[in-house]
Amino acid sequence: MSFLFGAKSSKTFKPKKNIPEGTHQHDLMKYAAATLGSGNLRLAVQLPEGEDLNEWIAVNTVDFFNQINMLFGTLTDYCTQESCPIMSAGPKYEYHWADGKSIKKPIKCSAPKYVDFLMSWVQSQLDDETMFPSKIGIPFPRDFQAGAKVILKRLFRVYAHIYHQHFEQVVTLGEEAHLNTSFKHFIFFVQEFNLIDKRELAPLADLIERLTSRDKDTSR
Ligand code: ZN
Repeated sequence: MSFLFGAKSSKTFKPKKNIPEGTHQHDLMKYAAATLGSGNLRLAVQLPEGEDLNEWIAVNTVDFFNQINMLFGTLTDYCTQESCPIMSAGPKYEYHWADGKSIKKPIKCSAPKYVDFLMSWVQSQLDDETMFPSKIGIPFPRDFQAGAKVILKRLFRVYAHIYHQHFEQVVTLGEEAHLNTSFKHFIFFVQEFNLIDKRELAPLADLIERLTSRDKDTSR
């Protein structure tokens, strides 16, 4: 079982977000990777004893961004203006991009354009030291969890698009296990801390049901 991506998928869509070595968050990240390796995802997503919830959410959000970044990075040849003129997750769900700041009125755009907007926006959030403080002693803002919820809600849409529109290619690339493990980890995490509205998860409701009911407390 591999939770770390192999060389095959080292191509990322956006630059990988690094958590600086020597920081507490880096230790937390290493801890998270180690518990993931134990194979019990339900347990692995739980807040480690004595740790700060905001910091735990921050470290995991960065990790999910990096994972999705790699997963989507393997699909950029397939997810094009032509193949995906709209950002969809199956026939029933279509997303229009707005960040609420520089783009207030939602734009209808292709999936690659949408994912580009989305990942660039997440990246700017992760790089914002007032939102994601990486240095010890600098507190998280009061609205941190609200902000993290928006990030995770949006990141979910990339999984939803991949599963609905590119799953065959994922299988062809041999990335199916990576995708499933990554998504399952993501879902267990957001469920643990109630970070995404059920309504937002509707495009993958069946898959989520399958992934989470098959084994309630082990990873596979
Ligand atoms: Zn696509």
